[in-house]
Order: sequence, then C-alpha cells, then structure tokens
Amino acid sequence: MASGKSVRGWPLMKRKCTTCPFGPNGDPFIRDGVVSRLFKGSQRCHHPVLAGKKETHLCRGARDLQLTILTGFGLLDEPTDAAFEKRSRELGAIK
Ligand code: SF4
Repeated sequence: MASGKSVRGWPLMKRKCTTCPFGPNGDPFIRDGVVSRLFKGSQRCHHPVLAGKKETHLCRGARDLQLTILTGFGLLDEPTDAAFEKRSRELGAIK
C-alpha cells in the first residue's frame, strides 16, 4: 500500500465491501490492521491492493468507525457523512 500520498479529494466508498472486517463476521486481524492505518492517517480502501489494482477511494468501514468515535467525543453532531463534511469545512480541511 502506498504511503505519503495525499488522499484529499478522493471519493468515499458508498458502502462497505461485502467481506468487510467491520461487518458482523469480519476478521479481527484485518480489522485491527485497518484501524491501525486509520490512526496513521490512511483511509484508503485496501481491496484494490489485494487485487493488484489502483487505489482510488476512501474506505467506508474506516469512515464509519471515525464517525462513531468523533461523534462520541462530541466533535460531530451526528455520525453521518454530512456532519463529517460540515465539520471538515468548519476546520478548513476541505473547501
Ligand atoms: S476496504 Fe474498507 S470497507 Fe472495504 S472491506 Fe476493507 S475495511 Fe471494509
């Protein structure tokens, strides 16, 4: 997986992958790996790399976890993409 590459402006996956480790039967080892990358600043979908394809989207599973955490800390009004985008604009992270 590439590192140090800006993902600003990348589209977010609309849904989790069918085998998502954040799903009810998800692999905890893979889930921990995604969470670990999330705290290092990467939100890339990991599936293209596994299939030898180009990375183009942000991970839905990781974003859903972010929404839950940020709402729990009171940084978002609700755990939605709209609330995330609103807060990102307020903070100047996106225009
Ligand atoms: S790329 Fe994201 S949404 Fe897809 S399986 Fe992995 S953690 Fe889930």
